[in-house]
Amino acid sequence: MTVDNLGSRILTLVTRLSGLNEPAPAPASTLDRAATRAAYRQALRRWFELTAQGSSADWAEVNQVHQQILRLIDDVGEPRATALRREWAREWRQETGLCPYCGERGPCHDPEQGGGLA
Ligand SMILES: [Zn+2]
Repeated sequence: MTVDNLGSRILTLVTRLSGLNEPAPAPASTLDRAATRAAYRQALRRWFELTAQGSSADWAEVNQVHQQILRLIDDVGEPRATALRREWAREWRQETGLCPYCGERGPCHDPEQGGGLA
């Protein structure tokens, strides 16, 4: 067994053990929800910016922001996460004139509307 291998096994074990002792999550306070919502909005707007950059976007950041959004969707919960995204996508398009989903100037291709106009 290599040192790396052992290290990752220990890490897995520690993660499992700490998971066992973790108390049940406390109900999210209003403040937590507001902070989560703000973080989700910021991450989505960054995503729209990266989309507009297209192939010149930094792919490490694209991956990072994507993971962040997936976590935040879980935290915000559906269907609220989708409703907020659509609201902020519309807002983004009004501000920039860019489609938040493809980054092109012009109509908004909302995936929930079959990519049609929204
Ligand atoms: Zn589009």
